[in-house]
Amino acid sequence: MSEQLTNEELIQVAREFGTPVYVYNADKIEQQYHKLRGAFGSERVKIFYAAKALTNLSVLRFIKKLGANVDCSSINEVKLALQAGFEPSRILYTSNGIHFTEIEEALQLGVFVNIDSLFNLQKLGAQYGNKYPVGVRLRPNIMAGGNLKISTGHDKSKFGIPVEQLDQLLEIVKKYNIRIRNLHIHTGSDIKDAAVFVKGIEVLFDIIPHFPYLQSVDLGGGFKVAYKEGDPVIDVEALAQKVLTEFDAHETARRLEIWFEPGKFMVSEAGYLITSVNLIKETSATTFVSVNSGFNHLIRPMFYDAYHRISNITNPSGPVKAYSVVGNICETDTFAWERPLPEVREGDLLVFYNAGAYGYEMASTFNSRFRPAEVIVYKGNAQLIRKRDTLDDLTRNQVVVDL
Ligand SMILES: *Cc1c(COP(=O)(O)O)cnc(C)c1O
Repeated sequence: MSEQLTNEELIQVAREFGTPVYVYNADKIEQQYHKLRGAFGSERVKIFYAAKALTNLSVLRFIKKLGANVDCSSINEVKLALQAGFEPSRILYTSNGIHFTEIEEALQLGVFVNIDSLFNLQKLGAQYGNKYPVGVRLRPNIMAGGNLKISTGHDKSKFGIPVEQLDQLLEIVKKYNIRIRNLHIHTGSDIKDAAVFVKGIEVLFDIIPHFPYLQSVDLGGGFKVAYKEGDPVIDVEALAQKVLTEFDAHETARRLEIWFEPGKFMVSEAGYLITSVNLIKETSATTFVSVNSGFNHLIRPMFYDAYHRISNITNPSGPVKAYSVVGNICETDTFAWERPLPEVREGDLLVFYNAGAYGYEMASTFNSRFRPAEVIVYKGNAQLIRKRDTLDDLTRNQVVVDL
């Protein structure tokens, strides 16, 4: 099956479902999962798809069918995963900064939880003693990832229990005899270097002997994918080899399962946001192209300064010119400044690539505009998996009062 949807396929989706529209290529998701499975081969490696990248139920169901497990970052994601058919035993909840009641709820649903604070670990012990085995998320104090906004393992990060508090952690564990089954670290997103994971493993190896009930080590996600031609990406084959070698070489780690939580790697490249050109505005600084979208639909370029490849799929061989691609909302929502594109005309379809991860998922109804529809394509067959918002969706929960 094709790795990329063709322009013709994308144009067909736009015709059938309108724009703006998110399109996901399920064949690509399948391919990415098989790439991971192929690289890690061994039974001891478990893959948990980080659902927060894209939680559409049809996508979750598909990923379940592929055989993956799922990692959730809120109790609602846990409930969506259950709704998508994941058995509780295949759901992991890596909590962060949440109230203890959410941990209780997850445990009662039969879901395994990674706890990320001494505060909640203490509560767990006081409430349940050693009834529920859990994992703990550690902060290894490693700087990793594309930039500070998406780096989570460094020494000023809010995520996880700082490793230097190990003594306090062990005190709580001992006091209540809590069975720690999993040690978790997730250092950031857009990690291109396997060495970051090896560094993380080394931090963990020092700690492992303190946890007699340990069954797994969870190295999180953050595998970098290509956003543009020639981008360095993570080599999962090399990563697998390095990680497995490290574990095999280490006496106390030999029997442990190894878990990963890829989000972006699974769905980023599978996703496209198709927009339509509203107008072209010539100015002395640049030529603006306004599309029927904005950071209300795809916020990564503005929020993370992320580069998203754009193409004009309805005039691919037009003469190339530089355009600044912007949205139609009342904020500066620049997708790209002075980007070379084949000549852009009113009504042309501009496609944003790598829109599968943190695309729809971070969309809002800012400016009271509708969130886009979502469509999935599998083996050439396109199906609607979420309708475009309607005015009803904007007012549904409002209570109108006269004052
Ligand atoms: C966000 C997140 C992931 C996934 O990160 P990607 O960069 O999308 O792979 C995995 N684990 C945890 C705990 C996360 O918060």
